[in-house]
Amino acid sequence: MNIIKELDNLSTIAISGHIRPDGDCIGSVMAMYLFLRKIKPDATIIPMIEKPAEEFNIISGIESIVSDFNPGIDVFDAFIGLDCSTTDRYGEAEKYYESAKKKIVIDHHVTNDGFGDVSLVVPDASSTCEVLFDVIGEENIDIEIAKALYIGVIHDTGILQYSNTKPKTMNIAAKLISYGFDFTEIIENTFYEKTRIQNEILGRCLLESILFMDGKCIAAKVDQKMMNFYGATSHDFEGIVNQLRYTKGVEVAIFMYEIENETYKVSMRSKGTVDVAKIAKFYNGGGHVRAAGFTMSGSFYDIVNNISDSIAIQLGID
Ligand code: 5GP
Ligand code: MN
Repeated sequence: MNIIKELDNLSTIAISGHIRPDGDCIGSVMAMYLFLRKIKPDATIIPMIEKPAEEFNIISGIESIVSDFNPGIDVFDAFIGLDCSTTDRYGEAEKYYESAKKKIVIDHHVTNDGFGDVSLVVPDASSTCEVLFDVIGEENIDIEIAKALYIGVIHDTGILQYSNTKPKTMNIAAKLISYGFDFTEIIENTFYEKTRIQNEILGRCLLESILFMDGKCIAAKVDQKMMNFYGATSHDFEGIVNQLRYTKGVEVAIFMYEIENETYKVSMRSKGTVDVAKIAKFYNGGGHVRAAGFTMSGSFYDIVNNISDSIAIQLGID
């Protein structure tokens, strides 16, 4: 995709990503923002996502994000949607997607069917930031753009560990760190560091998790009572599902938290045998083979039962 050509003569541009933005979403929105601000200094460029967690404040320009979704423009010349596989996941930005004169979609989710006027979906790429590395072009990258892209790459690859990490991903990461930012600090601050409360919730989830299907599945939840007790938000649950997945013998880890009474946001992680994107898609969600999610109504046990059936089919268990 020649993004500069796509945006030729367009002067109001919104950049957005998915609800509850993660490192790749925030990194890609900010990298695109920093790039466009440079190459289209006369245009109005609006990055628009929910307020990122404060550890992402190290990204240059992050204060420009319009997180109340009131940019003062109703119809943008172009809307660039990043790291988001369905329009409803733009959340409050969806209306700007709908009204935009030109809809540009850049993503790496296998469940993204390329719904924009112009779409670039690369399911082989580790992250949207990896896709953007090529879209922006090496010659246009500076240290601040490199930092934003690096954050996206490391967050979606579990610091270059998950199987979506390809030699190309490593090469891109190597080029990015050559710009000279403090990547050790970035990894520590945005990935590993937890608040006391986050660690307490993680501990409780591990203690209260249930193993089933002969230890092949593990599930844990945070309900509204627990969220209120800790004053926790969804951001405080990052990493819990991965920690569950590390349990020896487990093929699929399930973590869910209650977004409203008896409605849960479900996250799944697979070690590879089970395609969790397929399960998520069945329940109107999406994601990747080894990491996917959806929203479902019912009790924790209802939801676990539903997912178990889908997993059993894939594992060939009656
Ligand atoms: P997480 O479990 O970390 O929230 O998400 C794992 C992956 O699945 C991410 O790539 C995320 O974008 C995707 N995902 C999670 N929940 C949903 C959902 O409800 N709908 C769609 N389309 N994708 C989701
Ligand atoms: Mn991503």
